[in-house]
Amino acid sequence: MSTIIIADLRAKDSVTNKDTVAGGYGSRFRADSAITHFAKHMRRVFLNLPSIHVGYLAAIFASAGHNVNITRDDRPVNGDLALVLTSLVDYKHERAWGEAARARGLRVGFFGAPATHLPELFNGAGDFIISGEPEAAALRLAAGEDLRGLVLSPAINDLDTLPFPRWDLIRTRRFAHTNFTGLSLKRAFPMLTSRSCPEHCTYCPHRITASFRARSVASVVAEMAELEALYPGCHIKIRDPLFTLDRERCFQIAEAIRARGLRITFECETRMDDLDEKLIRAMHAAGLREISFGVETPDPETLRRVARRFIPPEHMRKMVALCWELGIATVGFYVIGFLQDTEKSIEGLIRFACELDTTYANFKILTPYPGTPQYKQLKPLIFETDWEKFDGYTLTFNHPVLTPKRARLMLGMAFSRYIARPSQVVNWLGLHRYSRHPLVQRADGWTWRKQDYLDRSWLAQRKVTA
Ligand code: SF4
Repeated sequence: MSTIIIADLRAKDSVTNKDTVAGGYGSRFRADSAITHFAKHMRRVFLNLPSIHVGYLAAIFASAGHNVNITRDDRPVNGDLALVLTSLVDYKHERAWGEAARARGLRVGFFGAPATHLPELFNGAGDFIISGEPEAAALRLAAGEDLRGLVLSPAINDLDTLPFPRWDLIRTRRFAHTNFTGLSLKRAFPMLTSRSCPEHCTYCPHRITASFRARSVASVVAEMAELEALYPGCHIKIRDPLFTLDRERCFQIAEAIRARGLRITFECETRMDDLDEKLIRAMHAAGLREISFGVETPDPETLRRVARRFIPPEHMRKMVALCWELGIATVGFYVIGFLQDTEKSIEGLIRFACELDTTYANFKILTPYPGTPQYKQLKPLIFETDWEKFDGYTLTFNHPVLTPKRARLMLGMAFSRYIARPSQVVNWLGLHRYSRHPLVQRADGWTWRKQDYLDRSWLAQRKVTA
């Protein structure tokens, strides 16, 4: 029996999400205005979840009879073997942690998307680097194999064969989460009911490590039941990139949750064109309380160029309205900095996001992630050499129109225009039925003009850069 340390390190100076965010490359949210500081603190408190692969690895080692110790900070921990979850946005910290652990006599390995697609970042810092989804390599380690160098870890095709993540081995009281239907914190856990995505969006890192696989309905609902037994009334954040791909499977999961009387709530991420009223109502009856979905940009031509199917805005509006009616929060994702974007078109995107009326929106700057077709396309334009800047909020390539500074200004504009609207305040007070009232709409228009006035010093320079 060995003692296994799994390091899921917390970044020091910002809010960092690793694991399944940006396909495992992670994102780092830095604030540079009053509004984004507010958004940063909200994220730190309300979107604080353990990393899912840490839960899986803990389960594999524990079921092989090893002691498992999960650490999130830099205090030295002793053991026999340390596995470090890697991210692009905090890799220097993770590398330094691995080097320090190795100097204390531990064997050290790195796993995660950067270890898979940019293993050279961790060369010399550990004994081995796992390339691929980590579970197959973890099974070999748990059986006592001594791994060295670059270790290929093939994706496990039958996901039902994996043990359920062992959240009881993690100090879960340190984690809390809320969905946007209320500000009360709940014990929440991530879950993967499927992995990867069969779509072909050229910028997406979720689909580059392995091909799409889904768990059976029985396995998914058994994990939910186990979570509910351990943590009654918990919330489950389904981290599949495309949860509702198989409509029939979703109906069956919803039906099984109800049949077993599970008192959980859950949220999922998906494409809006995979949703319809019947499916949303069925999932809501089973506990669905939040849906996140990518809009990316409202421009069909830009979407076509990145191989993303266009979703009619009318359909999205209809689904969002239904979610408001049922009390399901909605979160829209948007991308700033496609090659076709101008500051004018980005302003159109911000107006579209405000008008779509989701509960919340997240804006990011297009980031060419290694391993994606977009990375190959943009490689000649990439000027950024510090991989930690590939954080989803920094322009890393020469854009035809935007400079890095203007991209940050447009990103700040997106967050402040979206968050600081009277109708948004009305929504967050739980009074959505009034948010479309003509008076509130007029107040929105006034606020937009006021913000134009406050931003006039840099907006006036638009002609220079456009
Ligand atoms: S649908 Fe979403 S998860 Fe799938 S490839 Fe496109 S962006 Fe990625």
